[in-house]
Order: sequence, then structure tokens, then C-alpha cells
Amino acid sequence: MANIVAIVGRPNVGKSTLFNRLVERRKAIMDDESGVTRDRHYGYAEWTGKHFTVVDTGGYVTGSEDKFESEIRKQVEIALEECTAAIFMVDTHSGLTDLDKDFANVLRASKKPVFLVANKADTTERIHESVEFYELGMGEVYPVSAATGSGTGELLDKVVAEFDEGEEDPDGGIPRLAILGRPNVGKSSFLNALLGKERTIVTDEAGTTRDAVNTRYKLYGNDFILTDTAGIRKKSKVKEDIEFYSVLRSLQALQDSDVCIILLDAERGLEAQDMNIISLANKYNKGIMIMVNKWDLIEKDSKTADAYKKALMDKLGLLDYIPIIFTSVIRKQRIFQAIELAIQINENRSKKIATSQLNDVMLPEIERNPPPAIKGKYIKIKYITQLPGSVPTFAFFCNLPQYIKAPYERFLQNKMRKHFDFTGVPIRLYFRKK
Ligand code: GDP
Ligand code: GDP
Repeated sequence: MANIVAIVGRPNVGKSTLFNRLVERRKAIMDDESGVTRDRHYGYAEWTGKHFTVVDTGGYVTGSEDKFESEIRKQVEIALEECTAAIFMVDTHSGLTDLDKDFANVLRASKKPVFLVANKADTTERIHESVEFYELGMGEVYPVSAATGSGTGELLDKVVAEFDEGEEDPDGGIPRLAILGRPNVGKSSFLNALLGKERTIVTDEAGTTRDAVNTRYKLYGNDFILTDTAGIRKKSKVKEDIEFYSVLRSLQALQDSDVCIILLDAERGLEAQDMNIISLANKYNKGIMIMVNKWDLIEKDSKTADAYKKALMDKLGLLDYIPIIFTSVIRKQRIFQAIELAIQINENRSKKIATSQLNDVMLPEIERNPPPAIKGKYIKIKYITQLPGSVPTFAFFCNLPQYIKAPYERFLQNKMRKHFDFTGVPIRLYFRKK
């Protein structure tokens, strides 16, 4: 189940400060080193082993006092509709304002949990002052300091308690492929082209809460479910809401998927928003592939595809395990290969490698290139085993796990990928004491 937490509130209360605190930074070292700047209004967060996506609605709503009715109200309503929980932020420094009351009026009607958070409670005095927000009639007030992080732990304990951790697979193992990408890259055309030919739609998943954007297909003997995020745009009634709404829907589709097919427009290449999605999919351990569509519009010679791929790989940085396929949906070029690739990625994701095979292959590699000694201490990796779970995770047992550094981990990742096909799949390595 997708867990999305929206931070709402008027400008300057500290939404983006809290967002930056919640979004994992330390753990992201491995995957954030890409050549593309990101403009982030949403990101991956984890608390006590529970993961979720945080959305800073301030990135989408630039409302001021006079705009509340027309703009913010709708955004807040969408946030409440599409998210698991909302953090409603107010500011103990400025105290209660009329705009806070406007927000509260909308939020009180919510069926979803709303946490009233009084920010900038940096001092004991301010913490005491936060009681004034009980006047909003929204239950408990959580005083926090987004700047220092104080109070955020207690808040997060309560927030994650609202999550539905139903991780069991409702589709009985049928792979779920999410079609993601910016507007106009060709998502709808892709789905229509797939619908056109010999495969048959088995069922339209009726009665889902999510507007039946999931369609079950059968193609060359493979069953799969495609989640269409293109239709989303067409469903929103109000033009201004489109971006916010489709971002939230895409985040849900991403979290509920096994493999994310990320479409790019060949003429535009990889942009900041694409990188956001790719990086989030990586953190959620999803299978990932990039489909460079509208390849027909590119003037080509025999070197174009390789050069294009190389430039894309450079931008992906450490996420270079993601395969790239060039398609023209309009000319129906490679669209079935794209689906086959997605299914292959799904298989890679559930691959299990026997301990004996892992050790036979990896221990000699390690022997040839052992981890560098640190402070005169030798690090010895003794054996490797795959851990149970839905995504490839491997434990390397060694004498001094804390001395294994990122470059060596990267080396091991590369060797693992060289020996075993994990195309399109993030793999996780853990170092444990033995
Ligand atoms: P947003 O517009 O709601 O996203 O607010 P920002 O996160 O941009 O914060 C607005 C201002 O409040 C910035 O100058 C922040 O540095 C400041 N701020 C945010 N959180 C805190 C806090 O916990 N304590 C204090 N003293 N200032 C904060
Ligand atoms: P969506 O917003 O991602 O669903 O994109 P659409 O499927 O609506 O496509 C946007 C536009 O791109 C339409 O005019 C399509 O005809 C066009 N388009 C889609 N795929 C291709 C392609 O492979 N080549 C070219 N030249 N145009 C395409």
C-alpha cells in the first residue's frame, strides 16, 4: 500500500524545512550522485522501519491570503483525498492567523488523519505557547522545531502508526507495471498501442478505489497489470490542480508497482522531474527501466543510440543499472520488447541465488581485490548469503563490517551485477559481523 504524507500549511511556517529533515539524506549517498539537479517537492522517508513519501505542498501551492478560496482549498482537498495522512503546520513564532483558521476549516472535514504541528517551538517558552493552537479544535498539538528536529520523533511515531502496512500482494504475484513520465511523452499512446494488437484485456479491475486505472493484460503468455498514470491528467476537472494531482497519483502508482517504466521524450531527454521519480523508485527498491520514446523524431546514424545512451548513463550516475530502450510508439517500434524487458526486470527482482553459487563466484573476486586495510586492520569477508525478502538483498559476513566503505561496496555491487543478471533492479548489500 502506498503511504504518502502531505505537509500543508500557509507559506513560511516551515514546511520545506520539515520536508528536508524528513527526507532521507544520509542513506541517499549511494543513489543521489547523479548529474541531474533535482527539484524536489517530494521524497522518500523512513521512520522505525516504515517507509513513506513526503510531499511538500508548498512546492505546488503558492497561495497567499487572498487566494485561499480559489487555490489552496482545492489543493488541500486533493492532498486529503490522495494521501495517507496530512501534517498541518502552524508557526508558534507568528502565532495563530486567519489563514491558519481557513486551513483548519477545510482540514477538520477530513476523514484522513491530520496532525497539527506547531513549528518553531525551539525553546521551552515556545513549546508552552503552542497550546494556543488547541483553539483550532483539531485535537492534539505537536510542538516541533523543524530546524533542530526536536519533537519530530514523537510526531513521526504517531504518523507512521496510521499506515496500513498491508504488504501482502493483492494480485497473487502478477507483476504490476507502472507507466510513468511527464505529460506528452506518449504514455496514453503507448497504452493504446498495446491494446491494439493480439493481446486481450482480461479484466478491468473493477471496484478499485483508484478509478480503475489498473488494467490486466495477457501478452505472449505473460500476465501483468499496467497502471496508467496518463488517464489521471484527463480526470482532473480543474486545470491548476493537474500537476499536483498527477504527481500524487504517480507517487501512488510508483509505490504500488513492481516495475516502473519511465518514459522520456527523446527530444527532451532526462529532466529534473524524471530524476526525482527514478531516484524515488530506486529507494523503494522497484524494478526500473527507461523508455526513450519518440525515437522517430531523432535524426540518426549508426552511432546515435550509443551516444544517447552514454549521455543518459552519465546523468544516471550510480543508477547505471537501469536499462534503456528506444521506442517509437507511433511507429510501433519496440513497444512489445519494452513490455518483455519490464517482465524480465520483474523476474530479476525476485531472483534467488544459492549461497554456494554466491560464494563460489564472489569470494575469488574478493580475494583478488580485498577491502583496503584501515588503521593496519585487515578486513576479511568470510561468506555471503542472500537474505529472504521481495527484493535482492545480500549479507556479507565479515570481521569488521564498519570498515567497509562506499567505494568498496560499489566494487562489490559491480561484481555482483557482472556475475548475476540484475538488470533494472536495485540490489542491497549489508555488511554484518561474523
Ligand atoms: P515554508 O514556506 O512553509 O516551506 O517555510 P520554510 O521551510 O521555507 O521556512 C520559513 C522560514 O522559517 C525559514 O526562514 C526557516 O529557516 C524558518 N524556520 C523553519 N523551521 C524553523 C524552526 O523550527 N525554528 C525556527 N526558528 N525557524 C524555522
Ligand atoms: P501522454 O501525455 O504521456 O499520455 O502522451 P500522449 O500519448 O498523449 O502523446 C503526446 C503526443 O505525442 C501525441 O501527439 C502523440 O501522438 C505523440 N507521440 C506519442 N508517441 C510518439 C512517438 O513515438 N513518436 C512521435 N513522433 N510522437 C509520439
